[in-house]
Amino acid sequence: METLRTAAEAAQAARRLARPLALVPTMGALHAGHLALVEQACREDAAVMATIFVNPLQFGPTEDFSRYPRAFAEDARQLEAAGVDLLFAPSVEEMYPPGFDSFVDPGAIATRYEGALRPGHFRGVATVCVKLFAISGAERAYFGAKDAQQVAVLRQVVRDLSLATEIAVVSTVRDLDGLAFSSRNAYLRPAERAAAPALYRALQAMADAVTRGETNRDRIVAAGRAYIAGPMREAYLDVVDPLTFEAVPDIAARPIPRQARDDRSELGDFIAIGSAWLGSTRLIDNVPLTVPAAPAHAVLHASVTR
Ligand code: AMP
Repeated sequence: METLRTAAEAAQAARRLARPLALVPTMGALHAGHLALVEQACREDAAVMATIFVNPLQFGPTEDFSRYPRAFAEDARQLEAAGVDLLFAPSVEEMYPPGFDSFVDPGAIATRYEGALRPGHFRGVATVCVKLFAISGAERAYFGAKDAQQVAVLRQVVRDLSLATEIAVVSTVRDLDGLAFSSRNAYLRPAERAAAPALYRALQAMADAVTRGETNRDRIVAAGRAYIAGPMREAYLDVVDPLTFEAVPDIAARPIPRQARDDRSELGDFIAIGSAWLGSTRLIDNVPLTVPAAPAHAVLHASVTR
């Protein structure tokens, strides 16, 4: 694996790699979720370029940019072992040299949920990703379903700006107790770590409510809210369309546009999204909602009338 620090060198090296080329952008402090992205990229594409860059543009002024975990040597070792061909790990000055003044500003989709809690976050994500797409020239870029709104924002940007990089999504990788792996889990104190799986349990309870035939957003959310207790405080829980991140008041009343099915298939027809605070750490997670083919009452009705 070659490790390069400048955009010019990385672009040149990427052009020499086999096609199709996969891009796996990360902020480092790697865990099993990141490695799942690399593994899927290795399976689906001929060469893999990974990036490690803690992007200051996507952190708010009071957020954790300076104390974000950094573990470069161990990260590089893991990426090489996983089969990455090229690692691009630029400095902040390399990505944003003096005079840098152009930004990618996604619209309404970037103002909801994560965007509301982190103003400017998706502008930072979109700007760095468009730069990485341009530097790599990759045919596909891999992102985790855990950050489902990030996937939705980037797909909107790729569509709107006619970019040539396709956004591929990899399922969320979880610890044994259900907590989604995240570099920020390192911030959790032992008691917070013990309480953390409640967020996934809340989302599962929302999915179970849908499986039982519940279609109303408020009642689905209430089923999840019952699990957010003790030291955990809710930031948001909701039922949204995974393409637009608009809340869906009733999942039975919402026809799924045919042309959107492909993008939607990896994420579910609808998703339950959630975020919760444990101390000063905010967790995020989501699960797909599978709408039963026939609502429970229709099945009951059919068996009564038969
Ligand atoms: P980050 O380093 O946190 O910016 O994450 C880099 C990529 O890894 C993003 O596309 C994330 O969505 C993805 N990712 C983070 N955690 C997980 C996880 N638990 N499962 C799958 N993908 C993940």
